[in-house]
Amino acid sequence: MSQGISLYQTAVEQFERAANVMNLPPYIREILQHPKNEIVVNFPVLLDNGNYKVFSGYRVQHSNVLGPYKGGIRFHPSVNVDEVRALAAWMTFKCALADLPFGGAKGGVAVDPRMFSRAELMRITRRFTSALGANIGPDHDIPAPDVGTNAQTMVWMMDTYMNSQSNATRQSSWGVVTGKSLVCGGSEGREKATGQGVQIALEQYMKEAKMDPAQTTFSIQGFGNVGSWGAVLIGEMGCRLVAVQDHTGALKSEKGIDPKALMEYVKNTGGVKGYPEAGACTNEEYWKTKVDVLVPAAFENQITAENAPWIDCRIIVEGANGPVTTEAERALLARGVTFIPDILANSGGVIVSYYEWLQNKRSEHWDLDEVDARLKKQLVRAVTNVRKEAKRLKVDNRTAAYAVGLRRIEAAYTERGIFP
Ligand code: GLU
Repeated sequence: MSQGISLYQTAVEQFERAANVMNLPPYIREILQHPKNEIVVNFPVLLDNGNYKVFSGYRVQHSNVLGPYKGGIRFHPSVNVDEVRALAAWMTFKCALADLPFGGAKGGVAVDPRMFSRAELMRITRRFTSALGANIGPDHDIPAPDVGTNAQTMVWMMDTYMNSQSNATRQSSWGVVTGKSLVCGGSEGREKATGQGVQIALEQYMKEAKMDPAQTTFSIQGFGNVGSWGAVLIGEMGCRLVAVQDHTGALKSEKGIDPKALMEYVKNTGGVKGYPEAGACTNEEYWKTKVDVLVPAAFENQITAENAPWIDCRIIVEGANGPVTTEAERALLARGVTFIPDILANSGGVIVSYYEWLQNKRSEHWDLDEVDARLKKQLVRAVTNVRKEAKRLKVDNRTAAYAVGLRRIEAAYTERGIFP
């Protein structure tokens, strides 16, 4: 649990809010309250100094009623089963909302990747993958990158999995993970896809709200893959980045921060701290910065009852999963803040993961224009469905987003029935 708040409890509360307004049958509610499978593995790894260390890894498979389990793998010291369970459930609703033929899962290893060498991270990844064994597979459960993992991690996972296969199935296992590097079966556009989805969802909402990008300011929390790409692409729309915060520090500049220059800086230094073109500020000053759009793109439970009263914005676009606690969300909604919820705003990543998986299945390589065009179309459709549902049910966007996803899950259960 992060800061004493059960993340899974947050996920269940969000889902139940929608289940109530749409009268979801009680048996489907009960099924979705329980993840299907929870796998815990403890495995020893050789360190560079000759010692061994045992790591704990998790994979929670929440639902596969709409297709194979799908979701990222996170390497972070706070990884625990409650957190992974919540993230797995969010993947079920995210994939259903985006109309992908996938269910939901999530995994992780309790490890701080910054404390280990590349060789150690490779051994951790390979040993974790081998411990998961047949619990993952290209038509069963398909991991992807998340916090603390990247294309390299995925390529190690794929290679380890492939080496456990017979000659007959080896070449059909490229799609066991997504988010791989291009040369190892990855897709064009996958790296920027989550940040791009954040930008597309925001752009679509701003059009509806008749907001002029040239008059719009924004701030970003987190400057990793999602935050940095989100900042660059929202910047390209014409919006002005006025504040940034990450694990190293915070920056503020009324005249605007160049997202591309900051991205280059962070690539070299590992964080926003010390960036010479903007003034440093405290975390409190960061949260108090008045903006039109606030993009939390770091981690869960970042906007809480403590800092919510400081926030002065119109729209919160959730690049991270679960960045706002239930209590903070309630207070912000009461103040008229609009949310573009995580399962919609950050779904660009898993949408392009789906394209990667399709390309692997068909031995194809799509060009970037094709990936971009498909992503835009699929995400705009999801945003339109959520806005329609929000108006029809007279609810906030998060509740509407769950309702759209839940309707697909409900239809599948109703038609398939429950075995036996
Ligand atoms: N980890 C990302 C997420 O939370 C991507 C998942 C995927 O591509 O499967 O949505």
